[in-house]
Amino acid sequence: MDFERKVEWVGETSRFSGLSVQIRNAGIFVVSRCYAFAEFTIESRLPFYWETTLPVLEIHNLRKSYNGVKAVDGIGFSIEAGEVFGLLGPNGAGKSTTIDIIATILQPDDGEVRIRGSITSRSTEYKYRIGYVPQEISLNEQLTAAENLAFVGRLYDIPADELRRRVPETLESVGLADRSREPVHQFSGGMKRRLNIACAMVHRPDVVLMDEPTVGVDPHARAYIFEIVERLASQGKAILYTTHYMEEAERLCQRTAIIDRGKIVAVGTLSELIALIKAKREIVIEADALSSESVERLSAKLGRVTWAMEDHRVRLSIADGRIGMVDVINTAHEMGIRVRNAAMNEPDLETVFLELTGHALRD
Ligand code: ADP
Repeated sequence: MDFERKVEWVGETSRFSGLSVQIRNAGIFVVSRCYAFAEFTIESRLPFYWETTLPVLEIHNLRKSYNGVKAVDGIGFSIEAGEVFGLLGPNGAGKSTTIDIIATILQPDDGEVRIRGSITSRSTEYKYRIGYVPQEISLNEQLTAAENLAFVGRLYDIPADELRRRVPETLESVGLADRSREPVHQFSGGMKRRLNIACAMVHRPDVVLMDEPTVGVDPHARAYIFEIVERLASQGKAILYTTHYMEEAERLCQRTAIIDRGKIVAVGTLSELIALIKAKREIVIEADALSSESVERLSAKLGRVTWAMEDHRVRLSIADGRIGMVDVINTAHEMGIRVRNAAMNEPDLETVFLELTGHALRD
């Protein structure tokens, strides 16, 4: 209900008074929270709808070489408000170089980065729109959590009275409110990671760049970081998340770009990426007295299935997405094949990476 009211408010305001910056931001927040809702209900009457679904971050043809070695070789993609966009690739693929260029730490040899269409990385405005979470923790260990945040806030020219509100608020959002007065050297690795993220959020950027933010943390701390990332996305931030863990890209990212040797080899949602490859869903069944003849009859009956026998097991490779485990077991049962065990192997981003690049994600 609350959400509907906000959409209504944004819609009404924009119709009568055009687009002020404030209203556009609210629109971005709302539309990004519920894309489908916006499509069904307000698309036709709001010109601003089109505008708010434009990408927040656009990358065009980035290039960077080190002594003739192409670290980043013509990379381009865009990220929308509320989207977690993954950059997935092995070590040395060019993820950090890409993110460092977007963060303006590195100068590209060529290419361009824009925020909201018009803010280029050369403009002063740009730095206020970007939050950067570096791979290495960059905190002052002697200062408290609150002092670290205040220090960063001052770099972004946040006025002192505003900063007094923002620091506790930002610490709260990463679960460190009750540790604000402790020096950072007393923090665990996971807490430092969370504070590192908070430092990128204190100036409330539109885009958050996260370079492998879970490296070296335990599963509990990792889950906490995932929660923070999802919350940032739900607030309408556009998030670029680099990782070499395919599980993270699968779990967190609405779309993922697969990067290898400085080039993007594919971009899409998980199902779009899986649809690109030949590897299919596999169902492995174990049964008594399996013969080539019975398996041949089974595969003919199921349709669009190829198979390979291994002792008492058969590996069915299934092209038709509608055929599930239950269909296989039931059909086998009807044909007198007594299934003792069955397992399903879905292709994942590891399979996609392997098939598209010819080598494994973690060599
Ligand atoms: P990733 O973040 O995916 O691990 P990087 O962007 O760090 O990849 O590196 C991409 C390529 O660029 C690698 O071959 C790496 O060795 C090279 N590279 C990165 N930084 C430098 C540098 N400062 N000098 C020379 N080569 C570099």
